[in-house]
Amino acid sequence: MTTRIPVYDDLVAASKVLGKMAHRTPVLTSLTMNRRLDAQVFFKCENLQRIGAFKFRGGYNAVANLSAEQRKAGVVAFSSGNHAQAIALASKLLGVAATIVMPHDAPEAKVAATRGYGARIVSYDRQTEDREQIAQSLVQEQGLTLIPPYDHPDVIAGQGTAVKEFLEDVGPLDALFIPMGGGGLLSGSLLAAQALSPDCAVYGVEPLAGNDGQQSFRKGEIVHIAPPNSIADGALAQGLGKLTFPIIKQYARDILTVTDEQLVEAMRFFATRMKIVVEPTGCLGAAAAFNEAVPVKGQRIGVLLSGGNVDLSAYAGFLQA
Ligand SMILES: *Cc1c(COP(=O)(O)O)cnc(C)c1O
Repeated sequence: MTTRIPVYDDLVAASKVLGKMAHRTPVLTSLTMNRRLDAQVFFKCENLQRIGAFKFRGGYNAVANLSAEQRKAGVVAFSSGNHAQAIALASKLLGVAATIVMPHDAPEAKVAATRGYGARIVSYDRQTEDREQIAQSLVQEQGLTLIPPYDHPDVIAGQGTAVKEFLEDVGPLDALFIPMGGGGLLSGSLLAAQALSPDCAVYGVEPLAGNDGQQSFRKGEIVHIAPPNSIADGALAQGLGKLTFPIIKQYARDILTVTDEQLVEAMRFFATRMKIVVEPTGCLGAAAAFNEAVPVKGQRIGVLLSGGNVDLSAYAGFLQA
């Protein structure tokens, strides 16, 4: 298991590995928001990425970089969300067998999507079983390789290709707002910004209820918290990673927080004004920018929309309330 901290060259390599496999997602703008904030705002739409989230980038890069022997044995991931679908689709495209460990009460739509990409699902009971243990026994008994959701150099490098493209397409920015869970996306984004727009202030944004990243950043060491409660279900990590944290500590300007109400407001803005579906977690960066968690007036700012996978009935509820 490699624990090397990735660098910008790894993002360049990941871009080559991804090639045309990942979409070069569009960058959208909104005159309404530009006027409201008196700023120039660019939205990088990873909600329109394959599997509906940026996680395809890191997942594909990680599976593609395995040795022939590892690929033959197959991979395992534990996730009920976007990482599961990323590993399932990446594995299918690369001809690798994927096993996904999911709670038996995971949303049916997510189970079906993951199975639809040809992955084997191993379900477990959240109350009585430990998913990491189940995954570890598959590693030991069947020789599978575990692909973690964020704390892996190839995953971080893959995720960073989104901001690499973003900055190549729009040029240098004054500030960037990036959703954050375990910090894979943020750390990759920091490597890209450091190389392509070194004066840009890069902010990680997490739910207020789960501000372990902010606590860690302020304290200078990784702080673990109890399972948080927020509608941002892709950002409920209980602690940053051993690889992601050092990069965040070194290069992030700050870690900001937003409330669930601010996420809902942002979701409504994207639906009504920009006609795009963004999941609650995907709105973290946007909510911080829209509410001016830091001053943005007169600046060129980038907002990464990280995903668009939201259960339709839940989405309808968010839009209505
Ligand atoms: C996983 C995920 C995140 C958080 O990514 P990390 O690399 O864990 O910080 C943000 N948004 C969406 C949509 C995700 O699926």
